[in-house]
Amino acid sequence: MTDRVALVTGGARGIGLGITRHLAAEGWRLAVNGRRPDEDVAPLIADLRDGGVEAVYLRADVFDPEARRALVPRTLDVFGRIDALVNNAGITSPGRLDFLDATEDNFDLVIGTNLKGPYFLGQAAAKVMIAQREADPEFRGRIVNVSSMNATVVTVNRGDYGMSKAGLSMATQIMAVRLAPFGIECYEVRPGLILTDMTAAVKEKYDRLIANGLTLERRWGMPDDIGRVVACVLRGDLPYSTGQVLVVDGGFTIKTL
Ligand code: NDP
Repeated sequence: MTDRVALVTGGARGIGLGITRHLAAEGWRLAVNGRRPDEDVAPLIADLRDGGVEAVYLRADVFDPEARRALVPRTLDVFGRIDALVNNAGITSPGRLDFLDATEDNFDLVIGTNLKGPYFLGQAAAKVMIAQREADPEFRGRIVNVSSMNATVVTVNRGDYGMSKAGLSMATQIMAVRLAPFGIECYEVRPGLILTDMTAAVKEKYDRLIANGLTLERRWGMPDDIGRVVACVLRGDLPYSTGQVLVVDGGFTIKTL
């Protein structure tokens, strides 16, 4: 599997870093994307290379159509192929505004980053994967979209975020249906409460709720949890299951009476 290449958006921090670390441990060659300047991510890339991993950082804002369009070609320039795309990059709703105060600018930013970005990046990666499949009938591509429990759980002060993730859930099914004939499997990984910079602002509130039984497993989810699940998917250990949702939320969304 050592020649296989994965592009991980937002792969240098938070959940994405958990994914990058697990894929690195399994010998993937990695195109790690993010918005920060190269020098901020240089220590991570050096660390990966010290561990024998072929890794490159590709700075690009997935909200920006031009930068996004260049991502797959840049991956090909470095590695010459792409076997997996992990659409992980995402933002929460700026200011976490209530529905009655929500703004169109925030809506466009969140939907553009969390839904339009992955959808069209998926399209770009899929076209390359289809060509690779035509050249090699044994080729298998995989696309993982990292959504959120907010795909189904309502939070009124992040409506745009929830809609972006519900949309990404449908996008995954669209990709799964359209790409199945080409041997490309598509999955939605749907995290619950994961301890990252994104949730730092609400940590104390959720510390209390988790201690009081909000989740069946009484702990925060960690980037490592999501990394293990994505590595499992990309390894091909979930056969005959394209299009499925993998809920990784410690039991948060199980209804009880
Ligand atoms: P963080 O805020 O900790 O990290 C966000 C990551 O996404 C960073 O790597 C960031 O890159 C990257 N990113 C954000 N916007 C862009 C952009 N426009 N272009 C390129 N990269 C971008 O978030 P998490 O790690 O918590 O979240 C990762 C994903 O998981 C998101 O899609 C989020 O919605 C989802 N998720 C998170 C949950 C949680 O509880 N934390 C729960 C459910 C889902 P950079 O470092 O360069 O800024």
